[in-house]
Amino acid sequence: MKSLMGRVIFHVDMDSFFASVEKRKNPALEGLPVIIGADPKGGKGRGVVSTCSYEARKFGVHSAQPISKAYKLCPHAVFLPVNMELYQKVSERVMALLRSFSDRFEQVSIDEAFLDVSEKVKQYTSPQQLAERIKDEIRRKEGLSCSIGVAPNKSAAKIASSLRKPDGLTVVNPEKVKEFLNPLPASKISGVGRKMQERLASLGIKTIGQLARQPLDKLTEHFGRWGLRLWEVANGLEEDEVEDSYPIKSLGTEHTFEEDVGDWAVVEDCLNSLVEKVHRRVLEEGFLFRTVGVKIRFEDFETFTRSKSRQIPTNQKEVLHEYAELLLKEFKDDSRKLRLIGVKVSNLQKVGKTRNLLEWSR
Ligand SMILES: [Mg+2]
Repeated sequence: MKSLMGRVIFHVDMDSFFASVEKRKNPALEGLPVIIGADPKGGKGRGVVSTCSYEARKFGVHSAQPISKAYKLCPHAVFLPVNMELYQKVSERVMALLRSFSDRFEQVSIDEAFLDVSEKVKQYTSPQQLAERIKDEIRRKEGLSCSIGVAPNKSAAKIASSLRKPDGLTVVNPEKVKEFLNPLPASKISGVGRKMQERLASLGIKTIGQLARQPLDKLTEHFGRWGLRLWEVANGLEEDEVEDSYPIKSLGTEHTFEEDVGDWAVVEDCLNSLVEKVHRRVLEEGFLFRTVGVKIRFEDFETFTRSKSRQIPTNQKEVLHEYAELLLKEFKDDSRKLRLIGVKVSNLQKVGKTRNLLEWSR
């Protein structure tokens, strides 16, 4: 099949990414239910499941579930804390590999990306062959599996990648997008959460096909501009570009004191203004960050860096400030004077187009 009339978009999603990385590190976990997240504390733990293996999913465990509930469902599971630094490193390698196969590349999250391969695919006999090549490479180089959806647009590609997990490959031919989408539940559309699903159901809309057949007026009347968006996606008409991911890896700034400083109040003042500066840039560039880092240099030039990551990306100044302050505290009791401090954020992602849609569905 040569479907080169239009665009060829891949959506690549790593399979139970954190759990798979843990299994690769410790092969004894293979075949066991693995739950990564907060400490379950014998069922009394607070916090939630970050991710879990497919073996754990069979017991009804899923991401974002309270860890206490997961413990009840599957007490014999292997519970592990989130090792974000490790997942980040593996993610960077996987993403670099995916980028090398694409004309345009957009990382969506730590384990998910869109690839526009409209040109690259011409070097292969079919989109399917290129997708299989990518899956093979990730398996060979990283020992990890992924699922790929292939379609002429992003929304259909994303839905396609979710259908045959794990290790799935679903190709939607350009002339069959509507046929493919029609029977699927509306909840398959990215951003249609439980609330939105209920509102659609109250209008008698359960499938994407039913959504596609609604008069556009009716949808915009009920859902404003999201009505239009939903209608376009349902009709296979969404045409969002794969937006090349931003090359900036971190944003930060530092300050060298004119004279070495021993007064911690001065250090804190400086920290506040660095946080302000970095935060302003975060907003200007439209980023979310997951990691906050600080740098500190003493009068004898000994230099330290520290960082702290959170799971959910944010652009809140309070978080940036809280983390930076916490990290710096470690050095408060050192008797040496300070020469320099710096603040940075990393693990950046762009505030996506889907953000409002996601907020809407919460
Ligand atoms: Mg995934």
